[in-house]
Amino acid sequence: MEGVESDLLAIAGDMAADILYINFRKSDNFNYGGRMNQQTIQSSRSEKKEDFFQRKQLFNSKPLQSLKNQTLLYKKAMLEKSPFKLFIFDLDGTALGGHEPYKQFPLEFADFLDKLDASGIKWATATTWAVDKQLKLIRSSGVKSEPVLLTGSTGRTAFSVVGDEMFPISEYINEVAELDCNLKRKYGKTIQSIITELQSQKCVEEISYNRFGHHVISFKAAYGKEKELWQILQPLIDEGIYYSFTPGNLECNSLLPEYMNKGRAVRLIQKIAGVSPGETLIAGDETNDLHMFDPKLAKYMACPANAHDEIKKIVRSNNGIVAAKNYAFGIIEAVNELLKG
Ligand SMILES: [Mg+2]
Repeated sequence: MEGVESDLLAIAGDMAADILYINFRKSDNFNYGGRMNQQTIQSSRSEKKEDFFQRKQLFNSKPLQSLKNQTLLYKKAMLEKSPFKLFIFDLDGTALGGHEPYKQFPLEFADFLDKLDASGIKWATATTWAVDKQLKLIRSSGVKSEPVLLTGSTGRTAFSVVGDEMFPISEYINEVAELDCNLKRKYGKTIQSIITELQSQKCVEEISYNRFGHHVISFKAAYGKEKELWQILQPLIDEGIYYSFTPGNLECNSLLPEYMNKGRAVRLIQKIAGVSPGETLIAGDETNDLHMFDPKLAKYMACPANAHDEIKKIVRSNNGIVAAKNYAFGIIEAVNELLKG
């Protein structure tokens, strides 16, 4: 599972391409082919309880006490005075990573989300993951509180959650479907001719367009043809029609329609939560989070130590916090710093 196929699957709504070989899924169940029916997620409650009980035992075991003391510095009184009232976070490489099982939050992070909620701070996701997978992850991690919203597939889908049920934000999802139609109507022929040219010039080893109905262009450059390939593709970026999923990767990359981004998801979350950018904290790690790290969208920014240099740069330039710890522990560390003032 390398190259174009894995990138596409990741963008279609699950997780980072580099971990797809471990965690494989087929497609976004909720927005595939433009279908947006209300869906209900039912998971096995007994399995969840048993699993959570085992993890809770581990959490309370002695070897983990010192780690817990290091990571759970925040107090309820501190959270109640928090300058941010909404926490929006990415999954892969931010809330997830550096622990097993990968598809569950560390207990510290699950507990952290519930503590935020108990103090009146809302939380939501902005990720490539499909929303059904997100809810399973959240519940199997033992999180008891509800997100204000789950957004998935890089800003394409948004669902509210009540218990184990999810409800689509149809207006938002329909808007994305309309933008898809507009893109096809306005640029469909141009995109097709660009793909044909890339193939006829033998610039690509592999190329795919609209594989999952998301109008994503994914490709692997033919050896030595990178420069030629980018000369043909660059106008799509220069004209603001597409953006690169992994800027700087000349050999294997995906171009996403400009409207398919996490910044749009953040605006929707804020609208539904009734929270302003001045009271929003964003956490992410990769270049596909760049749309969220916008001072117009969030006053508070944080990233873990493992974040991409571009993200660290933008977080620092906006007076945000770059944690010393990795992944979820880094985010908890950053929040502690923020609360200390
Ligand atoms: Mg990430």
